[in-house]
Amino acid sequence: MNDLTPGATGGCRTAPVLKQRGQREVFCGLTGIIWLHRKMQDAFFLVVGSRTCAHLLQSAAGVMIFAEPRFGTAILEEQDLAGMKDAHTELDREVARLLARRPDIRQLFLVGSCPSEVIKIDLARAAERLSQVHAPHVRVLNYSGSGIETTFTEGEDACLASMVPVLKDTAARELLLVGALPDVVEDQMLSLLGQMGIDNIRLLPARRIDDTTAVGPNTVFALTQPFLGETHAALERRGARHIAAPFPFGEEGTTLWLQAIATKFGVSADTFASVTDAPRARARKAILQASEGLRGKSVFFFPDSQLEIPLARFLTRECGMTAIEVGSPYIHDALHGPDLDLLPAGPQISEGQDVDLQLDRARAARPDLTVCSLGLANPLEAEGLTTKWAIELVFTPVHFYEQAGDLAGLFSRPVRRKSLLKLEAAE
Ligand code: SF4
Repeated sequence: MNDLTPGATGGCRTAPVLKQRGQREVFCGLTGIIWLHRKMQDAFFLVVGSRTCAHLLQSAAGVMIFAEPRFGTAILEEQDLAGMKDAHTELDREVARLLARRPDIRQLFLVGSCPSEVIKIDLARAAERLSQVHAPHVRVLNYSGSGIETTFTEGEDACLASMVPVLKDTAARELLLVGALPDVVEDQMLSLLGQMGIDNIRLLPARRIDDTTAVGPNTVFALTQPFLGETHAALERRGARHIAAPFPFGEEGTTLWLQAIATKFGVSADTFASVTDAPRARARKAILQASEGLRGKSVFFFPDSQLEIPLARFLTRECGMTAIEVGSPYIHDALHGPDLDLLPAGPQISEGQDVDLQLDRARAARPDLTVCSLGLANPLEAEGLTTKWAIELVFTPVHFYEQAGDLAGLFSRPVRRKSLLKLEAAE
């Protein structure tokens, strides 16, 4: 069994970080709408953007056949801005039409994008005005999914952070779990905590607006996703306190994440063991099987989803891989520190990106597996490198014990495929 003591392997928390600010290769924050609209069942995401934004959403989210979609794009053309007043009037009219047709919508997010026409519109003011018009049935908020400054997972962060100031106040001692997870995974998480006797739990985002999520000075919160830096800061501003822990990926990460919460709520060691022993054993077995092809192999992470540091910890400590470089768009000590403590010393830790320089480093290192954005994967495959699309890690259920084997499998499949192709070529 791995030594779960933080820093037992000489971690990377104090390792020098290579910081680069150059050209980046990432999706924009609108991508988060794809999983957020499935999670928040009475929300609608109205992107204020261009035809490019509409195409991105439609091709990434596909077409819903059985239900009306809960996202759309209000396309602004240059001429719409001839008078800014007209743009606001047009937006008000679109929103009124939408809400009249869709009484099921209880939360409306106006999502900003990056065309220069959109940047000129004050969406915060528009959201405030529309909230007054459509309250109390509909709450209107705004955030930016612009690709100029954000990576694709920051869309969720910006969305959740926009909700924090309007959450109800509570003085109760409660656990707030933050981050959008697939329902089946969320249910597993709640079941594990419930079996430990922790049931005073709220969720952000909740599935519906009426599942009141509240926050206050006695709230403690745990993040389920490592890309929620802005939400973390917004919750602390409301007086809530963060439970720092490695993220719940793999058997070890899940155990340490649960352990940090259990300690906070005074759960006894016996109760903790009785709840976690069986799923831990299942997870270890599943990882062992799924990671067979990964042992002794090297991995290189390009910065993309902000999941890179916890996943590097999982791959090195539970799947026997060696990390060459672990790049993350941002490194936030309060969020990523516990995972960095556990990540065995050795890899180059990098923050931000200058894509050409980083490609040179990857080419020189020739890793067995490169985790990168879709845009980089094809050219690297053409150069003979084996790649894994980072975006798949966000769209696939990978958290907690029951998904630990699948998580290892996501990395081992491309490696196995490459070995099979090599064999075929040799025959
Ligand atoms: S990068 Fe900008 S223009 Fe392109 S889809 Fe995203 S928000 Fe729209």
